[in-house]
Amino acid sequence: MKANNLSICVPHGKQECRLCPYCVSRMTGMYCENIDLMRQNMPKVATLARATGVTSVMITGKTEPMDSIELWGELIHVFSDFPMEIQTNSRWWHNGSHGMEELRLLKKIGVNIVAMSADDRSGIDTVCRISAIAEKTGLVVRATLNVSDRLFSTPLVRTGDVGEIIELLSSGFVRQCTFRKLSYPSSAADTPEAEWIQNHNCESLFGQVMAAQKDYIEKQGGRLVRRLPDLGVSISDIGRMSIATSDYCIQEAPADDNIRSLIFANDGHVYTSWDSSGTLLI
Ligand code: SF4
Repeated sequence: MKANNLSICVPHGKQECRLCPYCVSRMTGMYCENIDLMRQNMPKVATLARATGVTSVMITGKTEPMDSIELWGELIHVFSDFPMEIQTNSRWWHNGSHGMEELRLLKKIGVNIVAMSADDRSGIDTVCRISAIAEKTGLVVRATLNVSDRLFSTPLVRTGDVGEIIELLSSGFVRQCTFRKLSYPSSAADTPEAEWIQNHNCESLFGQVMAAQKDYIEKQGGRLVRRLPDLGVSISDIGRMSIATSDYCIQEAPADDNIRSLIFANDGHVYTSWDSSGTLLI
């Protein structure tokens, strides 16, 4: 068995998160949290990750991971020698007092990349503000832009003006950018989050964004630097920034023994899918 990466769904304690109306965590349900079992299984998960060829670790959560950093910061030290990325929401950083202190803490834990999601203009501004601070600590900021009509709801950013968004980001210190398609698994088709995704043109806008992005990359003389077929991702270099495109974010059933992600959940178990407890490994 081989795996591309390990996602650690960090514990959240009693924290709840309602930042996004299209939240995939609410669609796929919560685990019954067991921090003691997580702690106990941690070395075995590190062994499993190495044995299956995992090349990077993603810190994520069923809520916003920055809300509970005091619960997991120490816990995951056995993974600190892996390239490590955290997925966080730019809205968490809206408070002007957040910045250097949290970034230094992430650096100390072993994080390399801070993947900040944003879905509107104010989120993009926050990503730019934080990336300028992150640059001083050696952390790389990746902007992950969730594509819905929100992203194009200000006069500055009109539908199709993908180049404008990319230039806003690259004029800060954002080093990587991804446009993310908002989607939902078929098992969650009746949820309010799936309804929101359907009502906000996410599918058709994503198609327009991909076409506009391709045009922009060509006009800028960008070049394809990597294709990651297992992940459905292509990476293009446009000078100061790279752009990654991915058209799905929820792991579908693999055709062979290669697994996209191992998921170390906050119930202390390891799965190979976010929405199927039947994929449990340990
Ligand atoms: S930040 Fe993450 S956990 Fe919180 S609502 Fe948004 S998608 Fe869900």
